[in-house]
Amino acid sequence: MPVVVSMLNSYSGWAAAMAGFTLNNDLLIIAGALVGSSGAYLSYIMCKGMNRSFISVILGGFGSDTSGASSQSYEHGAHVETTAQHVAELLMDAKKVVITPGFGMAVAQAQFPVADLTRKLSDHGVDVKFGIHPVAGRMPGHMNVLLAEAKVPYDKVFELDEINDDFADVDIVLVIGANDTVNPSAETDPGSPIAGMPVLRVWEAKKVIVFKRSMGNAGYSGVENPLFYNENTRMLLGDAKKSVDDILTYI
Ligand code: NDP
Repeated sequence: MPVVVSMLNSYSGWAAAMAGFTLNNDLLIIAGALVGSSGAYLSYIMCKGMNRSFISVILGGFGSDTSGASSQSYEHGAHVETTAQHVAELLMDAKKVVITPGFGMAVAQAQFPVADLTRKLSDHGVDVKFGIHPVAGRMPGHMNVLLAEAKVPYDKVFELDEINDDFADVDIVLVIGANDTVNPSAETDPGSPIAGMPVLRVWEAKKVIVFKRSMGNAGYSGVENPLFYNENTRMLLGDAKKSVDDILTYI
């Protein structure tokens, strides 16, 4: 839907530019062309981030094809849960930590305690970075805006392409309310509805802690996420803000 809205916004710009030609009004032509081209570019970035063509976004319901989603069902082991205290201990012992936020961080408004956690860990000598997927959240730049709002320093925030090869060197990844953007089946399952979508390869880290409220809900695409059942993954279930607040009480 955000892609469609952004494309309609672009059309309104082109329509204004056309009206500018008809009325011989230079200002309308320039303003219309700016709105039209920026809307078109925004739509292009969003489609690229999801590895989908514009036509398929318009005509297909991403994740609404239940037959596609159910073809994702597979046998998996049990997930393993952890506690805020244990995560705090792991973080204090870590050298490199990467936080990959997603839509759930926005829902929980967890960016402020996440920024506090970053500051405390950095003061303790831990190297903390953020890995931002281009379509994390529900609009382009969603995570960057939230982190800027919480005053996370820009030099700690990295785009997918900048950080994706570094995960093997990372001690702990905190997946805070992200799901589709860290789903390994995009790379491993050609039949997946999200096959080919670039994802953050968090599973390559030594340990992965996933923050989400329950095991029952999937991400935006409705696709199951095998990351949650990996041997090196631990689930910290609950509202992300409360979970991060709880961790902070042990640091
Ligand atoms: P997802 O939507 O894939 O997953 C969100 C996760 O957050 C879920 O695991 C959910 O689990 C968890 N969550 C929700 N609320 C909370 C909470 N209060 N506390 C803790 N966890 C919570 O998010 P991603 O950011 O990884 O992916 C974005 C998706 O949106 C992609 O599929 C992308 O294509 C799509 N999209 C993005 C657009 C953009 O421009 N950014 C535009 C249109 C679509 P649970 O419910 O169990 O808590």
